[in-house]
Amino acid sequence: MKTIGLLGGMSWESTALYYRVINESVKQKLGGLHSAKIAMVSVDFAPIERCQHRGDWPATAEQLSKAAQQVEAAGADFLLICTNTMHKVADDIAAAIQIPLLHIADATAEVLKAKGIAKVGLLGTAFTMEQAFYKDRLADKFGFQVLVPNDSDRAIVHRVIYEELCQGNIQNTSKQEYLRIVEQLAADGAEAVILGCTEIGMLITQEDTQVSLLDTTLIHAEHAVINAVKDGTSGE
Ligand code: GLU
Repeated sequence: MKTIGLLGGMSWESTALYYRVINESVKQKLGGLHSAKIAMVSVDFAPIERCQHRGDWPATAEQLSKAAQQVEAAGADFLLICTNTMHKVADDIAAAIQIPLLHIADATAEVLKAKGIAKVGLLGTAFTMEQAFYKDRLADKFGFQVLVPNDSDRAIVHRVIYEELCQGNIQNTSKQEYLRIVEQLAADGAEAVILGCTEIGMLITQEDTQVSLLDTTLIHAEHAVINAVKDGTSGE
């Protein structure tokens, strides 16, 4: 079994989900007392978030590249950046390490393709919903048509992520707002909606709606496990 590298802490609430989902998947695949081999560095999110909101992406790239090098030095065979938003600087991080980076949007695109989906809604931070690094990758590399909510709904989605979900605060009013926005994306033609922020699965799940949801945390974590165990199932 390969060692999964996790660059976490953005937020720790969702990194805890990665840790649990990865271990549960390894247990399910290998059985008994098997658990995942993980090397993780978990950063302090507060300074990263300040850089994000003032647009200082080079500073985030520098901090996260150092953290990724620590993950590599700890023995990871490949790296996951446990947040959609910070894939904004995925190319910088990948260039700072020798091990492969498993991109969260690519893992999600594989699932979309397998489901035969062409037009997909996207929820995430404003950075993820509005900037090219994520939407254009889905469109240009994989050919998907990507729909995002309108201005005011994007502001709601963004605010709830930083002011509530990243702080472990789950509000029913926010859940209802998110479900309304998911339904709107489906009414606009989305065949499925990407939960393109690693905390959104804490607020809404597939049980809450008829609209097909793709939870990037679950997809990314499962993708890591498939890569970790694919060269043999002995678990050693
Ligand atoms: N975890 C979130 C994401 O997947 C948001 C926090 C961040 O800005 O990294 O985008």
